[in-house]
Amino acid sequence: MCTWHRLIPKEQMDLLTYCRNLPKVELHAHLTGSLSDDTVLQLLEAKEKELGSKNSLCSAKITISKGHQRSLDECFRVFELLHSLTDSLEAIRKITQNVIQEFAEDGVRYLELRTTPKNILGKMTKKEYVDTVLEAMINEMKTCRIMVRLLVSVDRGRGVEDAWSTLSLAKQYLDHDVFKGLLVGIDVSGNPNKGNLADYIPILKEAKKCGFKLAVHLAEVKSCVEETDAVLQNGLVDRIGHGTYLLDNNGYGINNQDMILKHHIPIEICLSSNVKTESVSSFEDHHFPVWHALKHPLAVSTDDKGVFSTTLSNEYYICAKTFNLSEKDIHELCLHAVEATFLPSSDKDILRQMVKDDLSKLMGKLFLGRMTTNTLKPSTVLEICTPKELS
Ligand code: 5GP
Repeated sequence: MCTWHRLIPKEQMDLLTYCRNLPKVELHAHLTGSLSDDTVLQLLEAKEKELGSKNSLCSAKITISKGHQRSLDECFRVFELLHSLTDSLEAIRKITQNVIQEFAEDGVRYLELRTTPKNILGKMTKKEYVDTVLEAMINEMKTCRIMVRLLVSVDRGRGVEDAWSTLSLAKQYLDHDVFKGLLVGIDVSGNPNKGNLADYIPILKEAKKCGFKLAVHLAEVKSCVEETDAVLQNGLVDRIGHGTYLLDNNGYGINNQDMILKHHIPIEICLSSNVKTESVSSFEDHHFPVWHALKHPLAVSTDDKGVFSTTLSNEYYICAKTFNLSEKDIHELCLHAVEATFLPSSDKDILRQMVKDDLSKLMGKLFLGRMTTNTLKPSTVLEICTPKELS
């Protein structure tokens, strides 16, 4: 293959390396959707041992290893499969550890992990599930350079009764001896084609009354207009997940757009997820630049790094490359994510300072220019890339 030489001055980094070095904040990551291929293979092997057979799961292996483009409905089938592999407390502990380590290795300094507590007869209660996740979080924070907090997820596909029980469980952690301060909010997720979000408003009101912050998947599919209006008009949302069809040219009232802008409600931006599930036709057609141009707070996130084969560094890279962001824009995105966390202000101050310190060390190191072999100088490092990358 023909290769070209691109020269990057010492001290400077290409965009992807730069994004890997950013001190990142991840605010939209579902635990089960974040499992790496390695973790899934470990779980499959454990399951095969438990069941004493290989055949039942080999088709599942194929689905996971090849999956790069999946409709939203297909994704929900993948989640069901993953849930069948994570039906023991041992598996929950393992996946939580692995996911936190992988985010830390990717340069994530603060992670707000979200997961749906599960009650599996004879195997675990919702409380045991949450205790196990929190214990694993504490252990990983001792050894990895990362701060982790939890959001418990309400799955709209599981019904209102299940949501009330999740909320009453969450309340037990507000004043918990060991885990106090670790559970910082409630997420509402699950298949947007199931149930009606408006039915969950009383639960969301109660959650807010208890002091929980709310991150809600909103306007993820086109048919969600009315429920989105209802939830937004009640002033219940602290952060919006996806918000793919929120803009007024998508059938939503201009009032909502104005309200979101006026109240600075941050939007969690999941580029790969939206393109891979085909809710957005291409990166270029994503809603990111519309909100970004309005200087609205946005948090670049992965959603399901395992299911969508991505990392947070990769999401920053795609964002910066597609929308031609400057170094200053990229730094602002990192800092907006800090402000959008559900941390109390004292913890947020610490995180902000840490992110600012790390960003200042990176300032000026993003290589933006393009050089040819004619500009070869002794003080440069050589990087090989394909002609396509240079075009
Ligand atoms: P878990 O809560 O089991 O740790 O993570 C998987 C769950 O997160 C899924 O079953 C689903 O409820 C939720 N989830 C993951 N990705 C998405 C997404 O893109 N949209 C929505 N609405 N829910 C999601």
